Amino acid sequence: MSKKRVALLGATGSIGTSTLEVLRLHEDRFELFAISFHSNIEKAIKIVEEFHPQYVVSTSGKKIDYKNQLYGVEGLKTVAREADIVVVATGGIVGVFPTIEALKAGKRVALANKETLVSFGNIVKDVLKKSSGEIIPVDSEHSAIFQLLDGRKDEVKNIYITASGGPFRTKPAEELEHVRPEDALKHPTWSMGQKITIDSATMINKGLEIIEAYHLFDVPPERIKVVVHPQSIIHGMVELVDGAFIAHLSVPDMKIPIQYALTYPDRLPSPAKTFNPFEISQLSFEEPDFDKFPGLKLAYEVLNEGKEYPAIFNASNEEAVFMFLKGEIKFTQITEIIKRVLDSNPGFDHRTLDGLLEADKWAREEAKRQADSLI
Ligand code: NAD
Ligand code: MG
Repeated sequence: MSKKRVALLGATGSIGTSTLEVLRLHEDRFELFAISFHSNIEKAIKIVEEFHPQYVVSTSGKKIDYKNQLYGVEGLKTVAREADIVVVATGGIVGVFPTIEALKAGKRVALANKETLVSFGNIVKDVLKKSSGEIIPVDSEHSAIFQLLDGRKDEVKNIYITASGGPFRTKPAEELEHVRPEDALKHPTWSMGQKITIDSATMINKGLEIIEAYHLFDVPPERIKVVVHPQSIIHGMVELVDGAFIAHLSVPDMKIPIQYALTYPDRLPSPAKTFNPFEISQLSFEEPDFDKFPGLKLAYEVLNEGKEYPAIFNASNEEAVFMFLKGEIKFTQITEIIKRVLDSNPGFDHRTLDGLLEADKWAREEAKRQADSLI
């Protein structure tokens, strides 16, 4: 069997690092064909020295001393066309370009980057339908649902996405105004990049995941439920029409869904710790608090609204999170800013990628303007 060539986009990040661990264990099956990095040169050099990929893509323009170096979006697209599997683990909306390119070339996209589907879901799905490519979700809840659905459609009543509840699950709502970035970065169960960790604290991460699930599984918004499950052992549940619930359990470790997206439909031993049910005394469930976490409610609203609203939601959130991390706005202002930006939407052509990119750009600028008017 020839080795599958993997392009790992966003190799220096949290998902990227976990993917490398999977590749180390299964070097007989996979070859790291290409990586991309943005700003972390030191980490990129270490990866290159260990794996000797054929291509290195720099998305920031920063150079390392390497034979085949490509740059920017064009570089991402080139390696996406040539690899067998493209792991899209970049942050931000840039993931949409290699995703579309890989699908058009009939490749497998192991999709970690949720922004791609949140902002451009309809466009990506159109490309997917016309191509022989495939998307295998990496986001843990979506990987779980993907495995549980296993082709089921009419028998499915509801799908349940679990949420840890983040670091502020038990904090009184009135204290949220004064939480600091370092408090919000303390995730109780998952170790992830900074941006998604803040999204978990606002529960906007779950909001993005509802939209992602809608595009991946073609289930209407009202049948996609969020359930708070603080232990993060169950990642997804599917309720069938006969009243049976099926659930997917594992330790909270992204190496498990990443590996499955690479090996699907095969299963292989994983570098992750295995789950021991005897170490878990309790699996509990709570309803999400939509008043305390209004960003979650907004996500359902933008999903129902459709058009460019999800792209604006995503872009304004990203900008607001960066402002919060820099200490420029309060935690509770993240959602406040998103709401104001959504309310000022002048309208964009949501049927084209260019129109949605324009909406994204506008929303980022508008988020900064709104932040200035808050202070
Ligand atoms: P991270 O911040 O740790 O890493 C992001 C990677 O993207 C880095 O390699 C960085 O160099 C690169 N990058 C940053 N800005 C870029 C740009 N403008 N252009 C191109 N590349 C850029 O993030 P992460 O936690 O690994 O998350 C990556 C993606 O996966 C996100 O979309 C996130 O929502 C999604 N995701 C992450 C997890 C997780 O457990 N970390 C789980 C599910 C989904
Ligand atoms: Mg997730």
